[in-house]
Amino acid sequence: MTPDEFRKHAHELVEWMAGYMENVENLPVKSSVKPGEIFDKIPDTPPLHPESFDSLMKDFNEIIMPGITHWQSPNFFAYFPANNSPASVLAEMMIAALGAQCMIWETSPAAAELEEKMMIWLRKLINLPGEFEGVIQDSASTATLSAILTAREKTTGFSSNTDGLEKSGNLRVYCSEQTHSSVEKAVKISGIGRKNLVKIPVRKDFSMDPEKLREAILVDKKDNLIACCVVATLGTTGTTAVDPLRAIGEICRENDIWLHVDAAMAGTALILPEFQWMLEGKEFIDSFVFNPHKWMFTNFDCTAYFVKDASSLIKTFEILPEYLKTRTRGKVNDYRDWGVPLGRRFRALKLWSVIRTYGIEGLRDTVRNHIAIAAKLSEMISVETDFEILAPVIISVVCFRFIPAGYTEDQINIINEKLNHQLNDSGKLYLSHTVLNGRYTLRMVTAQTNVTIGHVQKAWFLIRETARKLIS
Ligand SMILES: *Cc1c(COP(=O)(O)O)cnc(C)c1O
Repeated sequence: MTPDEFRKHAHELVEWMAGYMENVENLPVKSSVKPGEIFDKIPDTPPLHPESFDSLMKDFNEIIMPGITHWQSPNFFAYFPANNSPASVLAEMMIAALGAQCMIWETSPAAAELEEKMMIWLRKLINLPGEFEGVIQDSASTATLSAILTAREKTTGFSSNTDGLEKSGNLRVYCSEQTHSSVEKAVKISGIGRKNLVKIPVRKDFSMDPEKLREAILVDKKDNLIACCVVATLGTTGTTAVDPLRAIGEICRENDIWLHVDAAMAGTALILPEFQWMLEGKEFIDSFVFNPHKWMFTNFDCTAYFVKDASSLIKTFEILPEYLKTRTRGKVNDYRDWGVPLGRRFRALKLWSVIRTYGIEGLRDTVRNHIAIAAKLSEMISVETDFEILAPVIISVVCFRFIPAGYTEDQINIINEKLNHQLNDSGKLYLSHTVLNGRYTLRMVTAQTNVTIGHVQKAWFLIRETARKLIS
C-alpha cells in the first residue's frame, strides 16, 4: 500500500469510526451469532495474491461486525466497562503509526519519560503517597502477578528466583472470598500453589473480615506456614465491596506481609475527593493497581501499577543480556525491568491525550455522573416491591433481583436467570450476573463513557416489564 492509498483508506476509516461512535447505541449490544458462525465464513487458507483494502472493509462490515458485542454502547451495563473515548482512539492511531517498541529508554526516550510523568500525574490524581512509583502494564492480572512475584522474592530474601521454591517452605497468600480470579491465577503460576491461597470470609457488605484474616495468619504461623502477601480489594468485581484497608494494613505491618491493593475498577473513583475514604490506611500499601482501561476512558490496554519500593520490583524482574546493556542504564527507567514482557507499546500517549482533553474536572464530572446515575437507579429499583437490592451501592454498580411473590428461592433463581438471558437476547441492553449468598443476582454497571440517566431509565423500564411479563 502506498502512502497515497493509505491516506485515502485512512480518511474513509475515520469517517467510519466517527459514524460508529454516533450510531453505536442503536446497534444490538450483545452479538447474537452462534459459535463457529464467523469462523466458517473466513477462508481456511490465506490469499495467495494481494487483495484490496476495500474488499477487507467489505468483509469487516459483513462478517466481523455482526460478531461484535458493542462495549462502547451506552446500553452496555455488563461486567465492568472497557471504555474508550475519542481522545484515546486518536492517541491509539498515533501509537500505531509510530509503531515504537518501548522496551527500554533508548528505544524511545519520549515513551519512557512520558510514562514516568503520566504515572506521577495518575498518582497525584488518585492521591497515593508521593513515594509510590508507577509503571503501565497490560492488565490488572499482570500487575497482580508482578506484585505476588515481588512479594515472593521479598519473603524469600530474593532467593526463589535463583533457587526455586523448594527450600522456601510453604508461602501463603490471603484474599477475600470476593476477590477477583486473577489472584488465584497469579498464585498458581508464581509457583506458590493454589492450595496456599487462603480465602478469608467476608462481612455482610461483602468486604473482607479483618478479624478472620488475623485468625488465619495466626493458624498458619502455628503450622510453620509463611505469610507472603495479602491482597485487599477496593471495589470487588461482584458488588464493588471495599475491603477495610487500615485494619488489613495494620495486620500486614505487624506480621511483615506485603500488602497489594486491587482497585481495578474503583481506583478511578479515587479521583473524587469524596471517595478518598477508600484509601484510608494507604500508608500500609506496598503495591496498588487500577485500570484506566476500565473506567477512565482510555481504551484497552492500559493498567496503572504502583509500588512503594520500586527497587524490589526491579530486582524481581531484571535480567541483563549483552544486547540490552546501554550507557544510560541506572540513570533512566528501563521499563522492561518493571514487569513480565520485554517489548512494550507506547501506552502513555493514550493517558496523556485523555487526561489533557478531559482535564481533571472533566474526568471528575463524568465519573461523578456515573455514580449519581447508579444511585438514581438504585432508588428506582427500591420502590418496587417485587424487586430487591442485594448489595450496598458504592460506586457505579447496582446488584438486584426480581422477587415476585409466591415463588421459592430456587424458582426465583431460575426466573432471574431467564430474565437475564431474555434481556440480553433483545439486543437492547446487556447485563451480566453474579451469585451472592446463593442468589442469582443481576448486575447493572452504569459506567460506560456515554451513558446517561435516559439510557438507564429506558433499560430499567424494559427490565421491569420483561420481568413481570415473564411470570404472567
Ligand atoms: C477487572 C478486574 C481485574 C482484571 O483486570 P484485567 O486488566 O482484565 O486483568 C482484576 N481485579 C478486579 C477487581 C477487576 O475488577
